[in-house]
Amino acid sequence: MHSYDEDLTQQVMDHLLHRLRLDPPPLGRLGDHQELTLALKDAIGRAPQPPADVLRTYTDSLEPTVVSCDHPAFLAFIPGAPTKAAALFDMVLSASSLHGVSWLEASGAVAAENQVLRLFADLAGLPAAAGGCFVSGGSAGNLSALVVARDTGRHRRGLDERAPVRIAVSDQVHSSVGNTLRILGVEPLVVPTSDHRLTGEALRAALDTAERGGGAPVVAVVATAGTTNAGIIDDLEGVAEQTRARDLWLHIDAAYGGAALFVPELRERLRGIEHADSLVVDPHKWMFAPFDCGALLYRDPKLARAVHTQDASYLDAIHGADGADDETEWNPSDYAYHLTRRPRGLPLWFSLAVHGTDAYRDAVARGADIARRTARLVERTEGLELLREPELTVVLVRRTGWQPEDYYAWSKRLLASGTAFVTPSVWEGETVARLAFLHPDITEETVRTILDSLVDEG
Ligand SMILES: *Cc1c(COP(=O)(O)O)cnc(C)c1O
Repeated sequence: MHSYDEDLTQQVMDHLLHRLRLDPPPLGRLGDHQELTLALKDAIGRAPQPPADVLRTYTDSLEPTVVSCDHPAFLAFIPGAPTKAAALFDMVLSASSLHGVSWLEASGAVAAENQVLRLFADLAGLPAAAGGCFVSGGSAGNLSALVVARDTGRHRRGLDERAPVRIAVSDQVHSSVGNTLRILGVEPLVVPTSDHRLTGEALRAALDTAERGGGAPVVAVVATAGTTNAGIIDDLEGVAEQTRARDLWLHIDAAYGGAALFVPELRERLRGIEHADSLVVDPHKWMFAPFDCGALLYRDPKLARAVHTQDASYLDAIHGADGADDETEWNPSDYAYHLTRRPRGLPLWFSLAVHGTDAYRDAVARGADIARRTARLVERTEGLELLREPELTVVLVRRTGWQPEDYYAWSKRLLASGTAFVTPSVWEGETVARLAFLHPDITEETVRTILDSLVDEG
């Protein structure tokens, strides 16, 4: 099983080349449970099977039921649109079994990942000491960062390690932060937003009230740079003013919006991000990296090390048992709750190096530009209403007179016809159409087709 097989290699490579050349790839469709069960019935047995047969099961029955997130008209949730260079380099990682646990085992991979993290840190305006690691995504980043926020908060207040503490979040915070707080056993202090945006003023009022009311101390605040549903950026500067004045940990969830750091006009809106104690950016979203790639940065990585470094004798070798310098020998396992990990920052490193950061700036800007142009198109279309001016790349649209089921039926029709994958969302209690742009190659013609289908199919 472990020796090189020319025939097997060729077959898989042929498939890879075929997939890479599709431009665009087929959009894909929803799978049928019974059909899939049937297709997989004899897939794994005691005896070997010809690779060609197994590949055919994959290409004919499985692959078509995975919607292509790299199709330019994938506008649901938050799309992924890896560059070809990044996608190709992901294969290098896999074929080379590259791993990225520690400096001892993977210094070259870790050094390259850290170069990318440094680039993010510089764009965000974090200090020279800032650092972290790549994790599987925003959820893993939020969890890893908030453990450090909680434990550091307790430590600074002289509380014992089980003492109840609270973390302030807005009522618009990502669901993964809610999950995180439940996992951590930390009570949220939910701060109401006006116009879906956490402001310094609202935070100040909530913290003052919480202080007067007694209860567990608030040790950290989570701000969002680009809500997933609507792309709204919190008042980071105002929030940072409060966290700095009160010695609170500031975690900024920029999983989706962090890519805006690359575009000077958008960067303006992220003012205050430089005050983050921890920061999450998902390159597998608007930075065109393959799944699963989240970047996690700490202002002071020492604090993260104190919380995350795993203590097991078989790991002594990676933690400088020989007296090596911890600052230069960087172990990604010390900065999140993971241990074994692939160096998932490397495909992004390769693509950034190949294309240069100007190309990234332009591609990120293009998503915001198409969102703005779509907004103008919506305004000019009778029967459609723009619900909010897009701040990043999400456009929310009401089709006058539609009920929730109309939006869901429309979404299904669009996917079935191979036109686009657009899923409805809820905005202020109402089901609406939501278009999330990212792919730089989406055309205005496709956007027009999608908007027309909203109007025509009433
Ligand atoms: C997508 C997203 C997350 C979760 O990231 P995953 O990579 O899906 O785990 C968290 N916060 C925000 C704001 C997001 O947009």
